[in-house]
Amino acid sequence: MNIILLGPPGAGKGTQAQRLVEHHGMRQLSTGDMLRAAVKAGTPVGLEAKAVMERGELVSDEIVSKLIDAELTAMGDSVGAIFDGYPRTEAQAHSLDEILAGHGRSLDYVIELEVDEDALVERITGRFTCAACGEGYHDVFKQPRVPGVCDKCGSTEFKRRPDDNEDTVRTRMAEYRAKTAPILPVYEARGIVRRVDGMADIAEVTGAIEAILAG
Ligand code: ADP
Ligand code: ADP
Ligand code: ZN
Repeated sequence: MNIILLGPPGAGKGTQAQRLVEHHGMRQLSTGDMLRAAVKAGTPVGLEAKAVMERGELVSDEIVSKLIDAELTAMGDSVGAIFDGYPRTEAQAHSLDEILAGHGRSLDYVIELEVDEDALVERITGRFTCAACGEGYHDVFKQPRVPGVCDKCGSTEFKRRPDDNEDTVRTRMAEYRAKTAPILPVYEARGIVRRVDGMADIAEVTGAIEAILAG
């Protein structure tokens, strides 16, 4: 199974990908996470991406497609893939087709998380993650069960992204509208787009996605 989770920043892609990883043993391929790891490690890719990400603009198609290809190669061809935050442009969508073919894979579904734009700023500005295991949280919508302690791994260290501020979010939303939303018709023509109400509770959204995957 190979699926794309598509939606604007804050739609819930990462949150849902984490649930699918836990329930179905699939693998989350998040170009955002890969790029943040590269920035942290100070690799050439990271050095090139850092300022672009801080502005909320898109990193080059070539860089992210190479990251995805490398990750697919490393994980072996039998594990299901959840693409989170990739593809984001028509060029990336085209590259993904070629990369998947090279790994003997093909796309099953593109799941679009539909959300009100007004809700996104609140989602993004309240977002934080466990510094140890990456589990996602929210100041209002998903607090740890024990305050200050990660549900999943018990760590007491959390972090916030430098680009999760209102200014950058506006740029990221504009990038989504201009460059990412236009790739949907390509997948619609193939009959593989499914829509989910991303404004529902986290667990309900997971249930809706699982119903799609179950066919
Ligand atoms: P994306 O990966 O699409 O940018 P995230 O999965 O990181 O989005 O979600 C953004 C923030 O909103 C996180 O803090 C997350 O906990 C919260 N969130 C995700 N899904 C929902 C939901 N259905 N309802 C309320 N809050 C949500
Ligand atoms: P969100 O889901 O909140 O939009 P991501 O973690 O997916 O954020 O991405 C964070 C940033 O990393 C983006 O604003 C962009 O600068 C860069 N990025 C991530 N994925 C891609 C991609 N597929 N193409 C270009 N840039 C990307
Ligand atoms: Zn944790």
